[in-house]
Amino acid sequence: MLSSMSSLSEETQCSLCLDVFTDPVSTPCGHNFCKICLNKCWDNSQTCSCPYCKETFKQRPDLKINTTLRELVDHCKKKSLEKTTEVLCDFCEERKLKALKSCLVCQSSYCETHLEPHLRVTRLKKHKLMDPVSNLEDYICQKHERPLDLFCRDDQTCVCSICSVKDHKNHNTVPIEEESQEKKTELMKTQKDVQLMIQNRIKKIQDIKHSAEVRKINTEKEKAVRVELFTDLIRSIERHQTELLEMMEEQQKAAEKQEQELIEELEQEITELKMRNTELEQLSHTEDHLHLLQIHSSLCSSTNTRNWPEISMKTHESLETLRRALTQLKDTIDEKLTLTVSTELKWMQQYAVDVTLDPDTAHPKLIPV
Ligand SMILES: [Zn+2]
Ligand SMILES: [Zn+2]
Ligand SMILES: [Zn+2]
Ligand SMILES: [Zn+2]
Ligand SMILES: [Zn+2]
Ligand SMILES: [Zn+2]
Repeated sequence: MLSSMSSLSEETQCSLCLDVFTDPVSTPCGHNFCKICLNKCWDNSQTCSCPYCKETFKQRPDLKINTTLRELVDHCKKKSLEKTTEVLCDFCEERKLKALKSCLVCQSSYCETHLEPHLRVTRLKKHKLMDPVSNLEDYICQKHERPLDLFCRDDQTCVCSICSVKDHKNHNTVPIEEESQEKKTELMKTQKDVQLMIQNRIKKIQDIKHSAEVRKINTEKEKAVRVELFTDLIRSIERHQTELLEMMEEQQKAAEKQEQELIEELEQEITELKMRNTELEQLSHTEDHLHLLQIHSSLCSSTNTRNWPEISMKTHESLETLRRALTQLKDTIDEKLTLTVSTELKWMQQYAVDVTLDPDTAHPKLIPV
């Protein structure tokens, strides 16, 4: 497909040395140069700019060899080498000179000196000459020993003038030059397509690189937002925990105060009761009957004290309500976050698909490398 160097010269030529690329590198603006040429250019200047479109780069770009382009260049080099393999004159003796033309009628190749009769002698002047080739037999009809100078469109094959009136009689035959010209037009169209495909792929690489950068920045931003959301949630839970602990401490203090007061009250009552006990003890031994009868009722009447057996102290608060509330909260958080994360993941995968290459519909054989 890429039959000669000239066919892709623009794509394979460095605009600095005007030669075929050696280790081609691509600038961020999408232009290609030999690695050595571009480095030399940047070493000799204060700023780094593209020698082709003059775009300036803040930082000297990290130059990596464009392997796709290098393979393309190697492919073209190989093809052009095959083409220029020398054909030698069949008539030179001893030191054979390079052939200038091949004659399809004589089925031989000639150097400048030995070609001379073909340019002078009238009979030889009619011979069909062509650029020298080593495989001359492929240009001759094996059946009739005549040049294959016609193309049968019905059979899509090259034929000689005798074929055209025998085996290919009444077939649509045209001079090979005419058919070749038509095929060349077709090839040029294909070549344009190939070149367009190369450009599209280079552009796609830039698109992907650009998307990757945007994505990286967005990911960092989104990570920060998510961390903030989680931090809010954790802070809120921590605040509730602190409040709860403070409340419990206050309750503990209040309970301690109440207990202290009760103990003091009880001690006060014990003192009073002891005094009464002493009085009763004394009265039990008295002989003053009148006095005993006078105060008997006040000493025996029930004293106005608390109903102590009914007072009991709480030793612990019930945890159940809080435990149930927190377990429920944890389950809700787990469930909601699992759902949210899977939804976000789906969204991100969708985003990733947007970046991938659209498969080209062109025939795979058109892809040069
Ligand atoms: Zn160069
Ligand atoms: Zn450029
Ligand atoms: Zn010769
Ligand atoms: Zn000849
Ligand atoms: Zn023939
Ligand atoms: Zn035919």
